[in-house]
Amino acid sequence: MTTKRFIAGAVCPSCGQQDSVRMYTENGENYRECVECHYSDVMEKDPSLAGKPPVTRVSPEDRKSDDDAKKDSAVQIVRILDQ
Ligand SMILES: [Zn+2]
Repeated sequence: MTTKRFIAGAVCPSCGQQDSVRMYTENGENYRECVECHYSDVMEKDPSLAGKPPVTRVSPEDRKSDDDAKKDSAVQIVRILDQ
């Protein structure tokens, strides 16, 4: 059974709708999808859901602050990753 959960504050990169994006895990991959425009793609930035080591440089500490940033805006996430 696949659990889909909405990402608070997330903005759909396709239609720009806020709080319409939800994510789920399938076959070890993290997907996100928009319930408004049915946009979807694969996410690889949340290793805790996939159960495999992170492929990016993001550490557990970074993930925590990243989750906080998600509540505000996607712009802040980009800024953190650029540092
Ligand atoms: Zn959308």
